[in-house]
This record gives sequence, structure tokens and C-alpha cells, in this order.
Amino acid sequence: MNLKIGVIKGDGIGPEIVTEAMKVLDKVSEVYEHTCNYTQLLMGGASIDVYGVPLTDETVAEAKASDAVLMGSIGGDAKTSPWYQLEPSKRPEAGLLRIRKELNLFANLRPAILYDELKGACPLKEEITAGGFDMMIMRELTGGLYFGERKTVEENGVMTAYDSLTYNEAEIRRIAKRGFDIAMKRKKKVTSVDKANVLDSSRLWRKVVEEVAKEYPEVTLEHMLVDNCAMQLVKDPKQFDVILTENMFGDILSDEASMVTGSIGMLASASLNETKFGLYEPSGGSAPDIAGKGIANPIATILSAAMMLRFSFDLDKEAKAIENAVEKVLKDGYRTMDIMSQGKTQVGTTKMGDLIAENI
Ligand code: NAD
Repeated sequence: MNLKIGVIKGDGIGPEIVTEAMKVLDKVSEVYEHTCNYTQLLMGGASIDVYGVPLTDETVAEAKASDAVLMGSIGGDAKTSPWYQLEPSKRPEAGLLRIRKELNLFANLRPAILYDELKGACPLKEEITAGGFDMMIMRELTGGLYFGERKTVEENGVMTAYDSLTYNEAEIRRIAKRGFDIAMKRKKKVTSVDKANVLDSSRLWRKVVEEVAKEYPEVTLEHMLVDNCAMQLVKDPKQFDVILTENMFGDILSDEASMVTGSIGMLASASLNETKFGLYEPSGGSAPDIAGKGIANPIATILSAAMMLRFSFDLDKEAKAIENAVEKVLKDGYRTMDIMSQGKTQVGTTKMGDLIAENI
């Protein structure tokens, strides 16, 4: 298979961690007989340095012409980087917001996996996490409170602010379908999270999710109120497979879920649109504090590349090969600095990439 991949290495540790993900993809291509055609694109600070803007129209067009985009992270140190002397619309982050919009990315996926090997980093009690856990938080990205109408007005001498939470059936249906499709590739369970005891938008959410569920008889659907879900994530995270939820609930729950897994350097993510296209990136930022030192953890980016193979190219076997290689390297005791613990072998970014590639 020919994989046309746009690559945005980005800023800070971005180039270091993306290089390792490409190394692993190249090894997968060699073993499974695929060809990766990379188009290197500039975004964020790297684009400002060359073109004076964080994202050019040409880069958007190139990204759209790719089957998927693999991205590092963008941005610099807001206190010292000259990029932050620019007005907000010209700073690195503006590129990120624009590309997400241009590519119609409406579904954000963040796996929260606790590897048995890293359970020491988990703040939960051992009896709760024994055996690890593996869930996928699926968050709607383009609707809800963050995009609804808002205003702040003075009413009867009192300042009053309004934010509206709006969803229509079509928006709910497309994310629900994605959630069920993804559950079909996993343990076939969807927990739809809402606040249907209070909010109309949640009642519509629940109705549409139930309609979609009829198309997926093999998948078990349960509904959970968001406050209960926040508790269950720390009480019994093993119960979850796919958590399907709206924008703000997903924003909060995905951070909570990632916190219980341990290091930011392990957290992959994907943002998908209505086609097979997706943007794949680590959940962390550009880590300017460790950039250029060769110590960043490339695993989140490597696992994001595995998600790319699974969701944009339907290459499940190849994705699993990457995930297994990561687990094997952890089992063999290799750690980057952020996940280092006593008795393990500390390695840098490049060595970690080499080890994972060798285990494909
Ligand atoms: P950050 O995630 O970059 O760093 C937080 C801490 O985590 C730092 O101590 C860092 O060293 C560590 N860390 C992050 N990734 C790591 C990795 N792979 N290996 C080892 N350690 C890692 O968050 P921040 O410091 O708040 O932000 C830095 C810059 O990144 C800012 O400019 C911010 O806007 C940007 N940012 C970009 C994205 C993105 O591109 N999607 C996301 C978040 C932040």
C-alpha cells in the first residue's frame, strides 16, 4: 500500500520525536511491504521563521492532499520566544487552530492506557489498576459550549454572561457513528457520557446515540452521567472501552483519564474528519525546556503513528505491531528520562526509536 503522509515536525521537541515515529513507520513499511511517501510541511514557529506566518495556504493544500498528517507539537516558550511578540493571530498556536478547522476535524481520540510496566506512575491504588486498563476517550470537537453563541451584558445593573451549548442531530450522529466504528475494532463497548437529567442537548445526544446503536448490534451501549463518569474513572477505570462524549465533557474527562496513566510522553491522540483522513499527534506540547537535548520521550508520537495506520489506512496488524513493540521495549526495561524508575535502563530519544523499530 502507498501511504501519502503529510509530516509536520513542528517546534521544540517536535522534530526529534517525529523523526523517531518516521523511523518506526519506515520499519513497518519494510516488514509489511508498504511505501510511505512523506511530504514535509512547516507549521507553527518553524513556519513563522520561514514564511512569516504560522500556516500558509500552500501548507493547508498539501495537508488536504495527503491521506493523513503526522504532527509533532508546535509553539515555544511564551516568555522568551520572539514568536510571542507577534499578535495572537500570528503566533504558532494560530496555525494549529486553523489547520484543525480547515481539515474539518470533528472527532478527537485520546487513548488512555496504563501499561503494566508503568503502573508505578499511576496515582491510583494498586488494587484498582492491577492488570492495567485501556480506554479510548472520543470527544466531539466542533460543537457544544466552546462554539455556541456567547455574550456578556449588563442586565438591571448586574453583569451577566451567557454561553450556549448547542448540538444538532447530524453533529451527534457523525461522532456517534465514529465511536461505534472504533468500538468495533476494540472491546465492543461504548459508554456515552452526558448530563441528560438536566440538559436538553444531552437528551438529544442520548436519543441519537441510541438510534445509531441499532446499527451496531454487536456493540454494548451504556449511558453514564458525566459526574458519575468523573468518579468511575478513578474508582474503576477498567470498566471502560470507548467513552463517547461532547466537547466540554470530553475536554475535562480526557485530561482526567490521561492523568491516571502517568507520563505525558506516552499519550497519543488523533483528530478525524468525515473521511478516513486524520491528524495524528502526541497529546503533549513542544516541551521547550528539554528541546534539543535528545531526551524527549518519542513513544506518544510513535503510538500516534500506530493510530494513523489503524484509523486512516485500516492497517490494524501493522498498528498492533507498533503497539506490541512499545510494550516489549518497556518490558525489557528501557525508559526515557520522564518514565525512568529504579533498576531500569535510561535511554535517549533516538535509542528509544531504534529499540522500538528493532522490535517490529
Ligand atoms: P508541554 O506538554 O510542552 O510540557 C509540559 C511538561 O511535560 C514539560 O516539563 C515537558 O518537558 C514535559 N514533556 C512534554 N512532552 C514530553 C515528552 N515527549 N517527553 C518528555 N517530557 C515531555 O506543555 P507546556 O510547557 O505547557 O507548553 C510548551 C509549548 O507547547 C507551548 O508553546 C504550548 O503552547 C505548546 N503546546 C502545543 C501543543 C500542540 O502542538 N498540540 C499542545 C500543548 C502545548
